[in-house]
Amino acid sequence: MTGFTGAGLDRADHLRLDAERLADMMANGDARLLRLADLDPVLDAEGRLAWAPLDGAEGDYIFLGLDEGAPLFAPLVRMQAPGQRAWSVFRLLSMMSVRDAAIWGAARSVNEWHNRHRFCGICGTETGVYRAGWGRKCPGCGAEHFPRVDPVVIMLAEHDGRALLGRQPQYPQGRYSALAGFVEPGESIEEAVARELMEEAGVAVRDVRYVASQPWPFPGSLMIACIASADSDVLSLDTDELEDAFWASRSEVEAALAGDPAAPFLAPPSFAIANTLLTRWSAGG
Ligand SMILES: [Zn+2]
Repeated sequence: MTGFTGAGLDRADHLRLDAERLADMMANGDARLLRLADLDPVLDAEGRLAWAPLDGAEGDYIFLGLDEGAPLFAPLVRMQAPGQRAWSVFRLLSMMSVRDAAIWGAARSVNEWHNRHRFCGICGTETGVYRAGWGRKCPGCGAEHFPRVDPVVIMLAEHDGRALLGRQPQYPQGRYSALAGFVEPGESIEEAVARELMEEAGVAVRDVRYVASQPWPFPGSLMIACIASADSDVLSLDTDELEDAFWASRSEVEAALAGDPAAPFLAPPSFAIANTLLTRWSAGG
């Protein structure tokens, strides 16, 4: 399954503005509060997300939804430095189920958004939590602000049975992945794919196909994975973005995905959609 998907919660939007029902749910013995260390997940001895009873505790909470009727909440955490994260979180993610990662990812993204949007973007007044954590409301001008999702395209250019992989300087040693970039205002997904491949690698593409999508909670992206056909395999790299790039064959990609030490590169981790994209591409999808 694609990483950070499959939480399977009933988000119960109709309850978010129902103060009475929310108070009832928070006082309910079944209500559970997600445990976080700053914003990182806390795992129990079995490697599952750790939860605590809510016990009508005071504070601001994000109502995550209903898990087979049981209400789940996450704390609203005041971050010291929004936008920062430790690499150690990726080690935890590699141990977590996809479903747990999805539940935690939503809590992390909404927390980041609150920390980055404490003041109204229209009039500058400090805003307050609204809609059970799924919004902020401005007491100055009445504006409502909602958690945002930033679309990012991540794509493989394909040429003559090989796929284009690139490497950013901050990647772990040996890691190569699909190229990616933010969708800009005024662009379709297809146009963003073509622009990013041209900007970063000098590759012209056509026939962009959607493959899969994934939320990415650092801080709040929606990764949109695509494959596109390149007319030429000549590369012209933007070295500010990419340290290196190469065209990988199917067998090279299969070896990397299998963790073969003889593979020419280290595959992206299973919770990253680049892994899903390479898996689908190598299977001929
Ligand atoms: Zn305002």
